[in-house]
Amino acid sequence: MKSSSVFLIALGGNLPSAAGSPEQTLRAALAILGKQGCDVVDVSKFYHTPCFPPGAGPDYVNAAARLAYAGTPADLLEVLHRVEAEFGRERVQRWGRRTLDLDLIAAGDTVLPDAQGFARWHDLPPDEQARATPDRLIVPHPRMHDRAFVLIPLADIAPEWRHPVLQRTVSEMLDTLPEQARKEVVAL
Ligand code: ATP
Ligand code: CA
Ligand code: CA
Repeated sequence: MKSSSVFLIALGGNLPSAAGSPEQTLRAALAILGKQGCDVVDVSKFYHTPCFPPGAGPDYVNAAARLAYAGTPADLLEVLHRVEAEFGRERVQRWGRRTLDLDLIAAGDTVLPDAQGFARWHDLPPDEQARATPDRLIVPHPRMHDRAFVLIPLADIAPEWRHPVLQRTVSEMLDTLPEQARKEVVAL
């Protein structure tokens, strides 16, 4: 039997879906992932987060989960995209409102596509970040380290996970975020 790897994912949503409120959608998505070959090992608390960027829609509900999964990171991203589609996710506008967003945050200490490819997305200037969409899987997620709505849930389940490029743990990355950004993410 193929052994499973440990993956960290971030979940978010700010529009109702057929499953109900964003909170209900996130819970339903976790249940479906459990039936799609993912073993949901741990789930963070659920949080309220102001919409990002400000004014682009209703506030978000965010969470993080640790999954054991036997396939590759690319296989898992496909599963995540399928589950998003099941909950009516439409990609209308980059960073726009959505019923469900499932991001692959980390795959152990794997760096994809490679150190150089990761660096290109990591170093993208902020205005280009909002416009450019990666056409391939980037792992760790290239914006995870500066998002309180990712790091705060992640700190519930993987505070000691160390970013393989930045060489900082989740707790350390969280400590460097501005107090204001951390205060905005509130447990439900
Ligand atoms: P962001 O990625 O900044 O959080 P977003 O989640 O709104 O923005 P999407 O429209 O959901 O962006 O995804 C854009 C594309 O990014 C997807 O087509 C996906 O294939 C690609 N992608 C690359 N790396 C990842 C990753 N680690 N997790 C999720 N999607 C990724
Ligand atoms: Ca996202
Ligand atoms: Ca996404």
